[in-house]
Formats: sequence, C-alpha cells, structure tokens
Amino acid sequence: MIQENLKAILVTIPSDVTLVAVTKTKPVSDLEEVYKAGQRIFGENKVQEMVDKYDQLPKDIQWHLIGHLQTNKVKFIAPFVTMIHSVDSLKLLNEINKEAKKNNRNIDCLLQFHIAEEETKFGLSLEEAKEILETREFVEMQNVSIVGIMGMASFTTNQEIVRHEFRTLESYFQVLKSHFFKFNHEFKEISMGMSGDYLLAIEEGSTMVRVGSSIFGAR
Ligand SMILES: *Cc1c(COP(=O)(O)O)cnc(C)c1O
Repeated sequence: MIQENLKAILVTIPSDVTLVAVTKTKPVSDLEEVYKAGQRIFGENKVQEMVDKYDQLPKDIQWHLIGHLQTNKVKFIAPFVTMIHSVDSLKLLNEINKEAKKNNRNIDCLLQFHIAEEETKFGLSLEEAKEILETREFVEMQNVSIVGIMGMASFTTNQEIVRHEFRTLESYFQVLKSHFFKFNHEFKEISMGMSGDYLLAIEEGSTMVRVGSSIFGAR
C-alpha cells in the first residue's frame, strides 16, 4: 500500500522536482517499505526521532530536518544530516556552521519563511532574511551552504490563499537570488508543498515537495 502510494505520487511529480518523503511518527518498517521502492530522501521534524531512525536504517539515506530546530540539538544531527529546511535565525545558522566544522562537513540549509496566516508557524520575514545574509558573520561561514528557501502555506482549503502564499515565497526566492546569490548556482531550491497542496506548489515553482500522509497514511 505504501509502495503504491509512493508510485502514484511520483508519477505526478516532474523529474526536476525532489520528493522528500516525510516519515515523522511512522515506524521504521514503513520507512523500509519506501526505501525498497527506491526512495532515499526522508524528512523528519524531530531531532531525537531522526537520530533513532538514522541508527537503524541504511546509510545511503539522505536525512532532511524539516521541523523547528533548537540550537542545543544541532550537535546530534550534524554528523549525518543532509539538509536543514528550517533555518530561522543567525544564531541557529552559526551553530550549524560550528557543528558542521567539528564534523569536517558542509551542511546544506534552507531559510524558512513565514508565509502563512497562522501565527504559530515559524519563519523569517524577507527583511530578517536579508539582515542575516548581510552580516559579516554569515559571509565568513565556511561549513554551511544556503541552497534555497522553505515555507509552509496556511492550513486552509482555500486554494487561492495557498496559491498566493506560494507565489509570495517564490518572489522571495527571486529577490534573494538577485541580491545575494546571482552567481551562486547552489542557491536553487524552493521547498514548498505538502500532501494537500504539492501540485499547486509545483505550479508555483516548487523544486522540493515534502509529502507525508499521502504516502504513509494519516498520522
Ligand atoms: C508534517 C510535515 C509535512 C508533511 O505533511 P503531510 O501533510 O503529511 O504531507 C511537510 N512539511 C513539514 C514542515 C511538516 O512538518
């Protein structure tokens, strides 16, 4: 069933869009199912759960941290995490840089933006992101790469609201690209779209969709 769900989603995703299979709260046996079907990019939102699953699963899996990250927990994932989607402060970025360096690695990061109506969702404003990218501290970091941006749309069935939020996120990407990353080809990802809205997100320029319940069932 999980394998069929995965296949049904993959046929709807263009080949230049990356699927992050969101595995939070699901048992390792479910992750093994999609692994057997060829999926290698997994998204988790909690540090401890990601570490536990990393320990139990094959080492060619690419782990993406998609949930809010506290600075004091960066050290637990720094040895293996492939991408952190939820960078929302200079302090956090500094910590990721420090822990990446300790592990002799470079960690790819996305800046998370607040685009939804709900106040509870984490993320930066465009101004806050610019402030981070303008700091000397950021410019001197050698063990992190900002490879794009991430955002979550409002939890609503109103497609026009969701579409508008995705468009806003895409416009932030263009602004940052032209101001800070014009000649940097690594800056190319727009992580937007979940089970309910990933097709809309792809229409609006998503390069990375984070899909959980449509593959693994409701949580
Ligand atoms: C849980 C989660 C998803 C996946 O949500 P589904 O609706 O189950 O596809 C995507 N992104 C983030 C940040 C999440 O926490």
